[in-house]
Amino acid sequence: MKAIKADLLDFPKQPQWGETADSEARWRPAHWLLLDDKGRIAAIQQHDPPEGVTREDHTGRLLLPGFIDTHVHSPQLPVMASYGTELLDWLNTYTFPSETAWQDEAVAQHGTALFLDALLAHGTTAAVVFPTVHKTSAEALFAEATRRGMRVIGGKVLMDRHAPDGLRDDVRGAERDCRDLIERWHGQGRNAYAVTVRFAPTSTPEQLAMAGALCKADPTLYMQTHVAENRDEVRWVAELFPAARSYLDVYARAGLLHERSVLAHGIWLDAEDRARLYASGAHVAHCPTSNLFLGSGLFDWRATSPAAVSMATDVGGGTSLSMVRTLAAAYTVQALQGQRLTAWSALHTTTRGAAEALHLQHEIGALEPGLMADFCLWDWSVGPVDAQRQRRAQSLHEKVFAWMTLADERHLAATWVAGTPRYTRRTA
Ligand SMILES: [Zn+2]
Repeated sequence: MKAIKADLLDFPKQPQWGETADSEARWRPAHWLLLDDKGRIAAIQQHDPPEGVTREDHTGRLLLPGFIDTHVHSPQLPVMASYGTELLDWLNTYTFPSETAWQDEAVAQHGTALFLDALLAHGTTAAVVFPTVHKTSAEALFAEATRRGMRVIGGKVLMDRHAPDGLRDDVRGAERDCRDLIERWHGQGRNAYAVTVRFAPTSTPEQLAMAGALCKADPTLYMQTHVAENRDEVRWVAELFPAARSYLDVYARAGLLHERSVLAHGIWLDAEDRARLYASGAHVAHCPTSNLFLGSGLFDWRATSPAAVSMATDVGGGTSLSMVRTLAAAYTVQALQGQRLTAWSALHTTTRGAAEALHLQHEIGALEPGLMADFCLWDWSVGPVDAQRQRRAQSLHEKVFAWMTLADERHLAATWVAGTPRYTRRTA
């Protein structure tokens, strides 16, 4: 048994929108987190653990549940911060050529290891991931995540049209690959399979129908895709699928809209789409740094809820793997629409909220006995500027909000996955 002492913060219930009262958060300063030998949280207590328990005292550091990034692309680290394009140009100019390299198994394996270690070095312990169209890229994701004990959801990307040579599959070959991957990896350890449609334009109606049939045959499978990110994209989908009422309707008709569907972006949806989204139990992965960087638009959080909303970096469209930087951008996106995102809503969305949206609240997202010991230790400040800001904070919300807005991966001291330290900052 091991025990870690720190200032514990988590969110057992959904905070009220706009409410900054301390009662919206669960704040347990100078508490011990006791870990069992199976990588789970055994207990949380104020009094000292019994003799013989290995102890680490991090009093004065913030301990949060590991972050959950619900939409991120493992092969896209090399195309982050690419200049001068919007979504469709960005895909053709930067992303597709880069993803083609992952047909080489060694490139995919090396790139995946780099990607997962980078997630850990940013405080993210669970992720919903797009690899590439190549089967080996999904194999690499599951194998490398297993090696690190991480919770991942992912699947081979489906795309059988409107993509360059080396980056297209076909319906029958893709189905075979999916079935094989599902059998080998879905529900194995902390891996789950997501039927992964890149987006409607790169799959034929036949491939979308195949993807929907896979979901129907096994309701424990996830589904991930992009929807209504950019206006040119929405117009293109309307041309390609003239019978569909909307972009979202393309997925609904194919059987791809269900309670395990993770839809990235969801900016250009109308009221009927949003009602349908809610009724289906699907949720939106909001990607603020990507939406700002690519100029895609401003996500209307208030109009989209009560459908669930989770938070995502969308690297490489997104500009940072840091969920903390992502939350600061999410605040900005709401501020531009006259809304105020509290630190409580923001942090809930990246932890317990995402876990609930993914039906994984029994495993991740909070600091409770029985859940996996996936957590991170953060410094409140790393220099005189944010230290001064912290000293001025009057309330807990002010302190946490200032931290959320000013912090980044430099503030991360350590990341633990399943009770094991998987990242430790080199310098104190
Ligand atoms: Zn994406």
